[in-house]
Amino acid sequence: GLEGMEDTDTDLQPRPPVVTIMGHVDHGKTSLLDALRKTDVVAHEAGGITQHIGAYQITVPDGSKVTFIDTPGHEAFTAMRARGASVTDMVVLVVAADDGVMPQTIEAIRHAKAAGVPLIVAVNKIDKPGVKPDRVKQELLQHEVVVESLGGDTQEIEVSATQRINLDKLLEAISLQAEVLDLKANPNRAAEGTVIESKLDRGRGPVATVLVQKGTLKQGDIVVAGAEWGRVRAMLDDKGRQLKDAPPSLPVEILGLSGVPSAGDNFIAVENEARAREVSEFRQRRAREKATAALGARGSLNDMLARIQAGEQKEVAVVVKADVQGSAEAIGVTLGKLGNDEVKVRVLHSAVGQITESDIQLAKASDAVIVAFNVRATSQARDLAAKEGVDIRYYSIIYEVADDIEKLYKGKLAPVQREKFLGYAQILQVFEVKKIGKVAGCRVTEGVVKRGAGVRLLRDGVVIHQGELSTLRRFKDDVREVNNGLECGMSFANYDDIRVSDQIECYEVETVAAA
Ligand code: GDP
Repeated sequence: GLEGMEDTDTDLQPRPPVVTIMGHVDHGKTSLLDALRKTDVVAHEAGGITQHIGAYQITVPDGSKVTFIDTPGHEAFTAMRARGASVTDMVVLVVAADDGVMPQTIEAIRHAKAAGVPLIVAVNKIDKPGVKPDRVKQELLQHEVVVESLGGDTQEIEVSATQRINLDKLLEAISLQAEVLDLKANPNRAAEGTVIESKLDRGRGPVATVLVQKGTLKQGDIVVAGAEWGRVRAMLDDKGRQLKDAPPSLPVEILGLSGVPSAGDNFIAVENEARAREVSEFRQRRAREKATAALGARGSLNDMLARIQAGEQKEVAVVVKADVQGSAEAIGVTLGKLGNDEVKVRVLHSAVGQITESDIQLAKASDAVIVAFNVRATSQARDLAAKEGVDIRYYSIIYEVADDIEKLYKGKLAPVQREKFLGYAQILQVFEVKKIGKVAGCRVTEGVVKRGAGVRLLRDGVVIHQGELSTLRRFKDDVREVNNGLECGMSFANYDDIRVSDQIECYEVETVAAA
């Protein structure tokens, strides 16, 4: 077939860099994308009406080109990575000089690092009076981003998006980074790339913005995008111009597909309709299988285990969250020593605090396992983990973490046990009861609690005990379970250091057969 051929060195030609802009909300991502777009030296010649197509390419004064993914924010980036697509060559991290490093700045750094994509820092809003760009550099240092002026290798440019200061310098930094990356693709082959955006247009039918990453897409080509296929009836760039050819790194809007693919889907040009049908059917079948697997509650861990056993996976990625810095570091160091010639262990991120949605997104995007050491997940994070099939493993002993991860990379972790969240209760009063000892008078605040279930006692969000719920009573009666909103008495097996306002998390352990 035309697709899937390997390119040799002589086929490869330089291609423009593809850049994503990330940063905290209101730090100026949209303004910077707009400002950079206006630097295009050929924009005025086009005369077409510029339209939003999710990505655009500009020509800089020296004639070279840069492609920007025009979907600011981290969601597009992580959503695409979660689908296995890597579209961006570098990330421009926008940090407002007057606000400094903020939570989404840190998140962006983590995502870029996890994806192995280099960063360029754009310290924005330097036109504002009294701003201190140097402070930003110091703050970045705490997140292991060392800018050049502090002896590191991350380029940093001070800019103003609205006053259009130093945009040329930012573009130079991008070119320099592109040179270092030595970006190349073979333009003389069947096109292949990724869907960046898609929609159903009333007049035009399914419309997809695709980024060509290899080869040249031609009008009239037969393509498969995700599980949809069709003949490219028309192809437009972001300036609304009709194109006959789209070379590597060019984003184009294509018309003619049978349906609407998803962002992050792969697309390829194929030789004929029969082949398009075949590829499309294969992809539909695979999507159905994946959906069935998800329904069967097989999470990332079991899939990972199966892939390791099949020799298909070469890395176990881990996100570590712990109650104190010392534990986070100790686990990081311990895990860092694991791995063998076949499978490496990589700690993507290690930090103190409860597990948040952004940890789940990071784990999902990187196919990582989350290790929770004496911490728990927020309820939103827990829901997201269940939905996305991300596994959170809870621990309170460091060597058990090491043991499990070792079993995992050796393909021996079986059967896998998965925790199922049951509910939360809040301690309202503590009583002394004869023969039982201390009893917690509680109200169930979410879900359900069950006698015999696993419990975790949380004080100020930190796990102080993990064990079993031994007695559960409503008024004077022993009961099997108590639902949300109701009050009950609880006591714990071999444990009675309980206090008013402690929180109790209740869970069950299900054993899921490894694949
Ligand atoms: P986003 O949420 O990161 O996309 O941020 P926006 O681009 O929407 O910008 C947020 C606000 O900051 C807007 O009011 C912009 O006008 C303002 N802003 C963006 N860049 C600059 C800049 O360079 N200087 C100043 N003074 N304001 C800016």
